[in-house]
Amino acid sequence: MTATATRVLVLNSGSSSVKYQLLDMRDGARLAAGLVERIGEGTSRLAHTPLATGGEKRETEGAMADHEAALKAVAAELAADGLGLDSPQLAAIGHRVVHGGLEFTEPTVIDDAVLEEIERLVPLAPLHNPANITGIRTARALRPDLPQVAVFDTAFHTTMPEHAARYAIDVATADRHRIRRYGFHGTSHAYVSRKTAALLGKDPSEVNVIVLHLGNGASASAVAGGRCVDTSMGLTPLEGLVMGTRSGDIDPAVTFHLKRVAGMSEDEVDELLNKKSGLIGLCGDNDMREIRRRIDAGGEDGERARLAFDVYIHRLKKYLGAYSAVLGRVDAVAFTAGVGENAAPLREAAIAGLEEMGMAVDADLNDRRSDEPRLISPEYARVAVAVVPTDEELEIAQQTYALVSA
Ligand code: AMP
Repeated sequence: MTATATRVLVLNSGSSSVKYQLLDMRDGARLAAGLVERIGEGTSRLAHTPLATGGEKRETEGAMADHEAALKAVAAELAADGLGLDSPQLAAIGHRVVHGGLEFTEPTVIDDAVLEEIERLVPLAPLHNPANITGIRTARALRPDLPQVAVFDTAFHTTMPEHAARYAIDVATADRHRIRRYGFHGTSHAYVSRKTAALLGKDPSEVNVIVLHLGNGASASAVAGGRCVDTSMGLTPLEGLVMGTRSGDIDPAVTFHLKRVAGMSEDEVDELLNKKSGLIGLCGDNDMREIRRRIDAGGEDGERARLAFDVYIHRLKKYLGAYSAVLGRVDAVAFTAGVGENAAPLREAAIAGLEEMGMAVDADLNDRRSDEPRLISPEYARVAVAVVPTDEELEIAQQTYALVSA
């Protein structure tokens, strides 16, 4: 890496999409950002925003047969802005990798052995790791000489104590099949818990934080002194909070019941719990804005939306209680991601009635809109309640740059 190499390209490769951002690590400035969708589906779409020049978003449509074609198209867009992948200023590419198992506790420079290890983890994340691997292979082929770093969604949670990570099932079976709580959204939980400490003017080692990452997927974590001690997602991202389309916590016997009594197949149950449950299962909508609109409109339809909202809030409160007990002392609760950052009524409802736990929300502060981390609790509250916008791309870029510039 040359002394002038200060840029990091962050790639988040999904099964039919690639999200990317190019950042300058001198100040964290975003130089370009974009998204390729519908890769391999006839008409693919690339939306590229050249942030460095303040240019307009450029959208192109065309057939991109695979990730290689998609990344080449991204490279061409970047090159058109003088930010091509061949630039000596590019220090590294950082890849989001969903599952790192117990093997990867830190961001890791990718070589053949690391790639093989990530492949070995595919059975634990069959929907995600294969796409991440394809993104890595393609990027390595385009720039074989450039350091590429894997940043794992599970890594932040590997500090969980054994009693939090273990399911109470037969130990030999669990170990043979690597069944345990891994947790996800780790990059976000790491970033937000650190930012929350900074908002309080403290070092992360000094504070205990409950992070509520509430997006379409949702997870809670208990972070003690900067280390994760528990998190709500488990072997897969299905466990825990109510989500847009996922059930979260459920009696596992429901799955046997659906198979035995409703005659559903394994795949049908999988689809029901992952795609047709959560908010969408409860009321037909997974967008919190639409749910609020229906509640406000009232009537029978509003009642249905209200039930979905109430189930969501009830689950959140249960986790706030559980993680308060796990942490012993809570200094802050941080709301983040699409719902957590934007849905003020939801934050108010989640914290309502928790005064005895030291938690309260100030209505005016809660309603104020801002992109900055901010407190929404009144001064008298023992626990700081905060809204802390997450930035997984920046966190991946920072972890990547720290590793390659060390
Ligand atoms: P994410 O997965 O973090 O991108 O979050 C996406 C979700 O955030 C959407 O499905 C919406 O439910 C929610 N969301 C986004 N904007 C708002 C808003 N202004 N008010 C309420 N919910 C929002």
